[in-house]
Amino acid sequence: MNNKVQEKLRLLFEDYANKLPARIDGIEEQWASLQKHQDPKKLADFHREIHSLCGSSATYGYHALSQAARQLEAFLKVLMDQEIKIDSEQIQEVNFLLANLAPMSKFVSAEKLGAVSFSLTGAVDNKIIYLLDKKEAAHDFREELLDSGYLVRAQKDIFQLQKALSVAAPLVIIVDIDSFEEAELAELVTMRKTLDVSVSLLCVSHQGDLLTRLKAVRAGGSYFFQKPIDSFHLTRVLDQMSASTAKQPYRILIIDDSQSLAEYHALILQDAGMITSITTKPLEIMKVIADFQPDLLLMDIYMPDCSGIELAAVLRQQASYTSLPIIFLSTEDDRIKQLSALNIGGDDFLTKPILPQHLVSAVRSRAKRSGILSAFMVRDSLTELLNHTATLQQVSAEIKRAEEESLELSLVILDIDYFKSINDTYGHLMGDYVLRKLAESLLSQLRKTDIVGRYGGDEFVLILPKTNKEVSLQLCNRIREHFSRLNFKAEGIDFPVTFSMGIATYSYHQNAQNLVESADKAMYQAKEQGRNKVVHFDDEL
Ligand code: GH3
Ligand code: MG
Repeated sequence: MNNKVQEKLRLLFEDYANKLPARIDGIEEQWASLQKHQDPKKLADFHREIHSLCGSSATYGYHALSQAARQLEAFLKVLMDQEIKIDSEQIQEVNFLLANLAPMSKFVSAEKLGAVSFSLTGAVDNKIIYLLDKKEAAHDFREELLDSGYLVRAQKDIFQLQKALSVAAPLVIIVDIDSFEEAELAELVTMRKTLDVSVSLLCVSHQGDLLTRLKAVRAGGSYFFQKPIDSFHLTRVLDQMSASTAKQPYRILIIDDSQSLAEYHALILQDAGMITSITTKPLEIMKVIADFQPDLLLMDIYMPDCSGIELAAVLRQQASYTSLPIIFLSTEDDRIKQLSALNIGGDDFLTKPILPQHLVSAVRSRAKRSGILSAFMVRDSLTELLNHTATLQQVSAEIKRAEEESLELSLVILDIDYFKSINDTYGHLMGDYVLRKLAESLLSQLRKTDIVGRYGGDEFVLILPKTNKEVSLQLCNRIREHFSRLNFKAEGIDFPVTFSMGIATYSYHQNAQNLVESADKAMYQAKEQGRNKVVHFDDEL
């Protein structure tokens, strides 16, 4: 943990400790007033306050106080559920439980969180792959992976793999499960548990039956490929994994009515390289989500105005937020309540207090998995590029970024020339092959920050951030020439394929639709000029 974060944490602890006596006084006053006027709303407020004290005190190391608050909270829950007024015996019980709070607030655990330190590796663009294969067979996908920029290092046994892992963590471990017995794979599982970092396992096998797939799952495999391996698909999956590790940091929105707890969790996540935003007002969440564009919500359950569960239900009613991961964070230890939170659309339920490492790993794994899943949902199945809707979303997002950071941005529409006649002459399957080959060629020639989408049919979109007119013209001409030199073969005949490109460079206050329209106009101009050409939008004016 860096010093700055450590210092901020220390200040949070100090602040919590300073405010605690007044907070307990406030609780006592709340109770006194509740005894005078028994009002269900006041009782609910009182319960929420105790609930919140229970969670925050545990987080800040006041375990005895947290336990005392938890007993009181449980009792208050009984009172809330009963239909009758609180009787004198119950008042005495509350008095008794309440009297425990002040003395218990004197005990603070030495190993409070300021003393906890943990380190997590930040995001890196990892291209290393360890290939575990006892037989050291020749894997034909190896070459293709090398071509795509991956560094494949063979490991012949688990021991060697373990040694390699202690030196550098790869993007993924590929294991040929045909060369290992189940018992050996169990050793692999045990060995991976001892690692500090979590590395995904991708299993390959000649068989694709259920038993083999089960063997892969038991070995800890998250991915499975049957041989002969479709290296196009494999490379896409690896690119996706690599993009999600190299991707911009996860954006986490924390919704908690306690500013201090929200800040505390934010600091932990920031220290693990994530970007956080906090809101203590659940009713403002729509605007905050729209402004901040989070990858994941970390949400308290008990809040004034509206509960976390209600809020999740509201979000899930809206198509654009159905897949936004939500992790509930609460002191709620009632299993049924937890299940109902998950039923309503929560992805995980963490109970406060939570260790920093656990919070980070839960948030990171949820955000990562959701990133990969949504990547599959937004991809075109033939080329595995972004589909039409996702491409347009990316155009809007990149425009927003260009605007905020005053960056240049160029957008390209590419359309294959006479594609209909390729289909008509050589068949639809050949047409599909051309589309896949083009996708591959574009991906291999563009920079990692560029985005390629299949806009529809034989039309593609390239989004080129930080690229002005001159550079985009050069880049597009290079890509065009390279592709036009490839030879396609069908029925013994060689034939080339060309395409036309239109570029529009972003200028202030343009929206996605304007920009796409301008590029489209330029592309038609290129067609009119004889095809196999690149035209920049303002060139035709
Ligand atoms: P132009 O140079 O003017 O662009 O001529 P073109 O023949 O390419 O005309 P157009 O772009 O209108 O043709 C698109 C064709 O793409 C029509 C459609 O049958 C074909 N197509 C669309 N989607 C697919 C696909 O997924 N696979 C295959 N094989 N063909 C497709
Ligand atoms: Mg066309």
